Amino acid sequence: MDKAVILLVDDAPANVQMLADILKDDYTLKVATSGERALELAVTEPMPDLILLDILMPDMNGFEVCNRLKSNARLRDIPVIFVTGKDIEEGEELGLEMGAVDYITKPLRPAVVWARVRTHITIKQQRDKLTQMALTDQLTAIYNRHYLIDAAKKKIFSSRRHQHPLSLIMIDVDFFKAVNDHHGHPVGDAVLKAIAALLQAGTRQEDVLARFGGEEFVLLLEMCDLRGAMDKAELLRQGLEKLKPAGLHVTASFGVTELADTDSGFEDFLKRADDAVYQAKENGRNTVVAISP
Ligand code: GH3
Ligand code: MG
Ligand code: MG
Repeated sequence: MDKAVILLVDDAPANVQMLADILKDDYTLKVATSGERALELAVTEPMPDLILLDILMPDMNGFEVCNRLKSNARLRDIPVIFVTGKDIEEGEELGLEMGAVDYITKPLRPAVVWARVRTHITIKQQRDKLTQMALTDQLTAIYNRHYLIDAAKKKIFSSRRHQHPLSLIMIDVDFFKAVNDHHGHPVGDAVLKAIAALLQAGTRQEDVLARFGGEEFVLLLEMCDLRGAMDKAELLRQGLEKLKPAGLHVTASFGVTELADTDSGFEDFLKRADDAVYQAKENGRNTVVAISP
């Protein structure tokens, strides 16, 4: 596993150096000597897993930096430990109230710094792992239904706000039960993995691909209208037809639709794609059917 990343923030280079000496062997370190710089480095890859934040700094103090971090959805969950010589109780209280996970007072004791950091890094990594497990499908390693529903709500919201089209492709593998019946469940699993990989390779960064159920996948296409989504589905259909996962001829039925103003939410949107898949099955499978909103 990659080393965890820690952002050290202190206006005094001597303090930064001391922290770095304690932590450099075990972590990847990023260093900022001002609040402004800290906020810049917090959003730059690799993003920090933990921030050690000095309170007393000129221009922007640690509390202000912490406030800014906590008001940013992308940065909110990065744990912050305040490091300060100002051992005033109110300072400690204020820091913890602001959402800092811990507080270290100067003069720094290396063993204490090291132990506290390790504790919070461990918690952060366990939390990241759980989050990742909760949102991804174990077999195919793509997103699961839970993630899709969450992401779809956000995409619908932003599509309406910015007046951008949003489309959805539902993909249901044809006669998949027969694959399991004739070749066994492990081969069925391998086929699903290969299909997921094919779909993933054709998915843009801003789009969302998820395994919706057993042999059903959903692709959510941002800034894409019905026409564009139909073309995309047709490309994927052809790609799958040629894929030969586990040496088998496998096809799927594709249902396509675009978000409508009259859709009350994701359910209505998804239902149309599901109806389109049903029609594709009726039409003989291995085909794309679109239902315009
Ligand atoms: P249709 O063309 O009408 O879609 O037929 P189908 O056989 O694909 O559809 P059906 O819904 O009858 O069967 C889906 C099958 O997918 C049944 C189920 O055992 C299988 N399946 C679901 N999840 C998994 C999985 O994780 N691994 C494997 N190997 N099979 C799975
Ligand atoms: Mg199905
Ligand atoms: Mg099927």
